[in-house]
Amino acid sequence: MKLIYDKSVEGRRGVTLPQSDVPEKKQIPEDYLRSSEPELPEVSELDVVRHFTELSSKNFGVDTHFYPLGSCTMKYNPKVCEEVAGYEGFKNLHPLLPQLRGGGVLTQGALQVLYETERLLSTITGMHEFTMQPMAGAHGELTAVMMIAAYHKSKGNPKSKMVIPDSAHGTNPASAAVAGYDVVSIPTNESGVMDIDKFKEEVDDDLAAVMLTCPNTLGLFNKDIQQIASAAHSVDALMYYDGANLNAILGKYRPADFGFDLMHINLHKTFGTPHGGGGPGAGPVGVQGKLVDFLPISRVVKRSDGTYALHYDCPNSIGYVAPFYGNMGVVIKAYTYILLLGKAGLSRVAENAVLNANYLMENLKDFYELPFDRSCMHEFVLSASRQKKQGASAMDVAKRLLDFGVHPPTVYFPQIVDESMMIEPTETESLEKLDDFIAAMKQIAHEAEENLEVLKKAPGNTPVTRLDEVKAVKELDLRWRKT
Ligand SMILES: *Cc1c(COP(=O)(O)O)cnc(C)c1O
Repeated sequence: MKLIYDKSVEGRRGVTLPQSDVPEKKQIPEDYLRSSEPELPEVSELDVVRHFTELSSKNFGVDTHFYPLGSCTMKYNPKVCEEVAGYEGFKNLHPLLPQLRGGGVLTQGALQVLYETERLLSTITGMHEFTMQPMAGAHGELTAVMMIAAYHKSKGNPKSKMVIPDSAHGTNPASAAVAGYDVVSIPTNESGVMDIDKFKEEVDDDLAAVMLTCPNTLGLFNKDIQQIASAAHSVDALMYYDGANLNAILGKYRPADFGFDLMHINLHKTFGTPHGGGGPGAGPVGVQGKLVDFLPISRVVKRSDGTYALHYDCPNSIGYVAPFYGNMGVVIKAYTYILLLGKAGLSRVAENAVLNANYLMENLKDFYELPFDRSCMHEFVLSASRQKKQGASAMDVAKRLLDFGVHPPTVYFPQIVDESMMIEPTETESLEKLDDFIAAMKQIAHEAEENLEVLKKAPGNTPVTRLDEVKAVKELDLRWRKT
């Protein structure tokens, strides 16, 4: 089917789908046509409604249960953000509408939201400019790495090495490798951050950039950032900040002030946008002045007469990373979130996120191994190594948590901790919920000593128990009935 843009019709009816475009049966080769009618279930409307209502009640999410996942955690998602993104003027906006005159009446508001969100993110992070185009965190990383490459190339000094600590999010080395860089992994020292001496051995003219996940995947703040930045800058290497989990620092410090040259943010984690099932998301990239020319197109500009437009004439740009406005709905939710919370509210996000994580960590560290015993940021990592000696793995702990109505933490990541369990309570959980979680974790630690059987058999309350996840992926079967 082909979408036709009918230039003679302005406004929302500009796109039409003529009936004649629907492929006719005779165009499909004989071999591919059915010889008999499909066998479909014969069920009443009521049965269908009951079936799906029952299924939906089995769904596990932040609207029903505590979800302290760790790293990729969905944070505060006010419902009003959904409502605003659903306004007619946003929802029915077609990407092919003209920006000015005629349909421009309809697009100006959306362009203004894009423009102002960029400005707000610049204020929050200290970066000069942002692009809202990338559609995920990893997509933002790749966009940024491509800009790093374009920057060094423009200076006549293409470099091949990217330094990334082993406490980084897994997408960091993946993004660097996809863009063609050699990734050098730097080990973690005894304080849980990148070993600065080992890092300094890698600082040479071939170093293109340092990618730091901040806070790192152990949930720890790196006190050496400024030292790392000045070493990197001494060889004209760029400093990249993975700010997927910006809730740890909102309103407290700005990455640009610490010497970072570019960064990405996950709107679908920190800025009021739910995510799940693979999307939708947005990974805006912010840059310092020297990188602005390389930002992807299109750029949203404000003209001298106060109108907004998409600008494509950027000769040094890395080009397109996404079509049209990017994931517009996600940006609208983030914009609403920032205006809703304001400066004071955003700072409280960081305060509560850090307080909640430290509260859990302090209350659980006598029951589970805490590999790096220092105050954490928005999340922390425990190890089930003690329970493992008693016969219960991190996986057993995770499965047992389901019986308490808690989504398990991220397990076996980061890989630098044995039997790791990465826990992020987020900023919006009540003290009661946190105490319930502590009680459940303590009981599970007790069961590892006294009642191993119940852990090994968990979960006991879910419709399915332990799935063979590898088999499920490799032998995907989505048919409703075997033929
Ligand atoms: C989630 C996450 C990413 C990747 O974001 P996606 O939107 O899943 O691609 C990158 N870095 C960190 C630290 C993250 O938590």
